Amino acid sequence: MVKAMVLSEHGIKLIVTNIVGGDRTKIPNGVVGFHDVCGGSFVHQDISETYSELFCRKCRFRKEFPNTIKTLGQLRRHLLLVLSMSSTAPAS
Ligand SMILES: [Zn+2]
Repeated sequence: MVKAMVLSEHGIKLIVTNIVGGDRTKIPNGVVGFHDVCGGSFVHQDISETYSELFCRKCRFRKEFPNTIKTLGQLRRHLLLVLSMSSTAPAS
């Protein structure tokens, strides 16, 4: 099962390869998939008591998110919310 997930407002995509199942699937620690453009592995790891990140081993792009997000579905909804807020922010 291959799924793409947009991680940033610049269209950076995670291609999920290491997960079998749907949105209820828990995000595994370690390699989750790869970065569509650079081909590097995206690693999921805890970075503090309250935050986790997805980290590209090749280009070093990183996306932090609260570690209350445990499943692929929760991550997808979180990213949609964050990206919709950033794209509608008033220009200054
Ligand atoms: Zn990358």
